[in-house]
Amino acid sequence: MKKLLSIVFMMIFVCLYVTLLTGCECDHEWSEATCELLATCTKCGKTMGEYADHEWSEATCLSPKKCTICGKTEGGLGAHSVEKGICPTCGRATVSFSSVYSECNCKSPWAKAGYDYLTIDTNPYDYEDNPYVDLATTYAEAALNAIKKINEKLSLPSYLIDEMLETRAVDGRRTYSGKKVNVSWRYHPDNGLEVRYSF
Ligand SMILES: [Zn+2]
Ligand SMILES: [Zn+2]
Ligand SMILES: [Zn+2]
Repeated sequence: MKKLLSIVFMMIFVCLYVTLLTGCECDHEWSEATCELLATCTKCGKTMGEYADHEWSEATCLSPKKCTICGKTEGGLGAHSVEKGICPTCGRATVSFSSVYSECNCKSPWAKAGYDYLTIDTNPYDYEDNPYVDLATTYAEAALNAIKKINEKLSLPSYLIDEMLETRAVDGRRTYSGKKVNVSWRYHPDNGLEVRYSF
């Protein structure tokens, strides 16, 4: 009986010794530190070092910059992306044709604006001759000035107005594809210059 006990003690001692030994000499395998967790040994759980920096994702128009690990946010919202006037992230129109309409002194009947378009027609009633020539001239001047202003407002290249004015009836409908908007226009002596801005 005594012998059995001593064998048991012996075994316990050996087990403890082995456990202690391997504990001390763990061949640590460190996981990478994150902003939330220190580098940790995957075998014994020991930690070391410091927390890592946050891993920031870029701010968008819907969310400030955000750590992809811990979810912490910092700073304000980002800018809308601009793709043909509609932000692909949040779906909002980044060009408001109704504000462009009023800011560029647009008026009925030669200008029309909707959510996704703005049209200018230098000869809205397609006047060909007198007695309307005065009114036609008034419309044409106002409309032309508005087109110049709109092009500026929408940061369209300055040569665009020249191309518009040089357009002949035989050229048909011409187009320009900008970053924020698409522009198309046509000219006919009887119908005037008709310009359409859209997304
Ligand atoms: Zn370890
Ligand atoms: Zn973080
Ligand atoms: Zn947006």
